[in-house]
Amino acid sequence: MKLNRILFFITVASLLIACKKDPKVTDQSDQQEDVQEVVEEKFDYMVEQFADLKILRYQIPGWDNLTLKEQKLVFYLTQAGLSGRDIMWDQNYRHNLTIRKALEKIYTSYDGNKTSKDWKAFETYLKRVWFSNGIHHHYSNDKIKPEFSQDYLSSLLAATSTEISKEVYEAIFNDEDAKKVNQAKGIDNVALSAVNFYGPGVTNDDVTSFYGKMKSPDKNKPLSFGLNSQLVKENGTLKERVYKSGGLYGAAIDEIIKWLEKAQGVAENKAQGDALGLLIEYYKTGDLQTWDDYNVAWTAATEGNIDYINSFIEVYNDPLGYRGSYETIVQIKDFDMSKKMSVLSENAQWFEDNSPLMDEHKKDSVVGVSYKVVAVAGEAGDASPSTPIGVNLPNANWIRAAVGSKSVSLGNIIGAYNNAGGSGRLKEFVHDNEEFELEEQYGQLGDKLHTALHEVVGHASGQLNPGVGETKETLKNYASTMEEGRADLVGLYYLMDPKLQELGLVEDWEKTGKAAYDGYIRNGLLGQLIRLNLGDDVEEAHMRNRQWVSAWSFEQGKKDNVIEKVTRDGKTYYNINDYKKLREIFGRLLRETQRIKSEGDYKAAEELVEGYGVKVDQAIHAEVLKRNEQFTSAPYSGFVNPVLVPEMDENGEITKINVTQPEDFVSQMLMYSKHYNFLPEVN
Ligand SMILES: [Zn+2]
Repeated sequence: MKLNRILFFITVASLLIACKKDPKVTDQSDQQEDVQEVVEEKFDYMVEQFADLKILRYQIPGWDNLTLKEQKLVFYLTQAGLSGRDIMWDQNYRHNLTIRKALEKIYTSYDGNKTSKDWKAFETYLKRVWFSNGIHHHYSNDKIKPEFSQDYLSSLLAATSTEISKEVYEAIFNDEDAKKVNQAKGIDNVALSAVNFYGPGVTNDDVTSFYGKMKSPDKNKPLSFGLNSQLVKENGTLKERVYKSGGLYGAAIDEIIKWLEKAQGVAENKAQGDALGLLIEYYKTGDLQTWDDYNVAWTAATEGNIDYINSFIEVYNDPLGYRGSYETIVQIKDFDMSKKMSVLSENAQWFEDNSPLMDEHKKDSVVGVSYKVVAVAGEAGDASPSTPIGVNLPNANWIRAAVGSKSVSLGNIIGAYNNAGGSGRLKEFVHDNEEFELEEQYGQLGDKLHTALHEVVGHASGQLNPGVGETKETLKNYASTMEEGRADLVGLYYLMDPKLQELGLVEDWEKTGKAAYDGYIRNGLLGQLIRLNLGDDVEEAHMRNRQWVSAWSFEQGKKDNVIEKVTRDGKTYYNINDYKKLREIFGRLLRETQRIKSEGDYKAAEELVEGYGVKVDQAIHAEVLKRNEQFTSAPYSGFVNPVLVPEMDENGEITKINVTQPEDFVSQMLMYSKHYNFLPEVN
């Protein structure tokens, strides 16, 4: 751990093609834990575990270094964020708010037998729904199946005089709306996705033709059409219900505006204040030009200790990639760490010039990749309880090219992950002891460097050929996974490069590179399968990209035995024999992936993703799940947020703000539903 501490936590994630980089499954935190245990004993990161989920806590390092004015800014921004919490619930599925209200009423008013198996199943179901901001699993998008009967629910409803409609009652148990986001090939993704971005009867063709007709005033600055609205069909006519004050979700948005205005009043500088002003304007009007103006101002506002993300940003939950999910992350700058890490962004041009891309796909000047390590002070919406570990914004390609982008890694979140400890899956999946030792010594650093390179260099690199449309238009349902694969490959290519040692980021580039390559292939071909139910295809964009990168590279190296597939005692392992050749293979795949993006080659993207990233070897999958049974640690983690509690003087002026930790997950969820429910059940 010390090694990492010296080189601190580094990860980032991008949002254009939403980038929720998640920790590797074959965690290697046992050794961390050993170290951590000594250091971190006094703060208990672990809250509880149920089903396939682990709830953790995080601290806010550096809080006491902030001035009262800065603490107020953070407090107002967290309140603004939480005020929109219920928007995400309704965006995820039209019945979510009705279902949550009913379940919470039962939970808080039922006085019958609470030791029964049925009640335990009810409690677990409610907690899983809270964790996913709705009744569809946060990662697989499948509807969560209750492990209690309809009769039992009817008895609870009756016992607590809770009423829900027949339609909502059946939605909890039936097979309709089974998938929140359905990315399957050859189907009408919009019609067969439960996500509440589209009204009943709206189809893929409706959406593409509706937005196909839209033209931006300046074609070089394309507006993010569809980002902040629900598309419905009224009397056969398609209409957008815009998210704004007085519009859809208006009541919650008015609360967000109220707190953002308070935040603007204590902004750290003019640039920050002006950007907040534009965000407020956007929430009032829903105007997408104002949204872009805000993003230009926000991206340029890099001065100050406090920063934030607030609005409809990730398009992940939209099968066609138009609509933004509501989220917020409030951040406090980690000075020491950020200073050390700016090395990467300062050398972004060197990485671009020395990459294996075709020359015409390289950017002449990579501009403005600002990179910070921050401490999270509060999250809500799509960023909580399940949170990214890094963020890269804004999402509009033209703004990234013209103004630049902000990359941050969420240092205290990663710290909490590592301290929460794992269950030693590493030993089960490594091929040999050398691989284990390398992972022990260099794994954490390799992992974090890969994520930093992924975001700061990866997502910022490469350019489209002139005249080629936005990637979400050209590569459609493959845009996300292709972009994440491209950024991963940039990271993989440079992880095996002495330049990193020259820049003082590693002490031994070769060993760090080997640990990172081992970890990537081990996770991409084996480890990540524990997250998937047997028989399912890989759906999630990052899981897909990790598999098509690993599977394509394995196949390409077969003739020279670059990566060897070993079966020992009925168990499968992958052993890298030639790291140098593997780097060349990664370089070739990167060059091709960039060509596909730069030319908008949908056919080639389809062949790569469908050919290597979707289907799973059923025998291997069954084997991995069997081998994983011995480990109890849940595969998914999320967080409760610290609670900021202001002290006021007799005039109601804030005199101090204390950071407290919530008692547990249940009490925080009930407190949020009580204090931040500004929306009707049906919107
Ligand atoms: Zn990414």
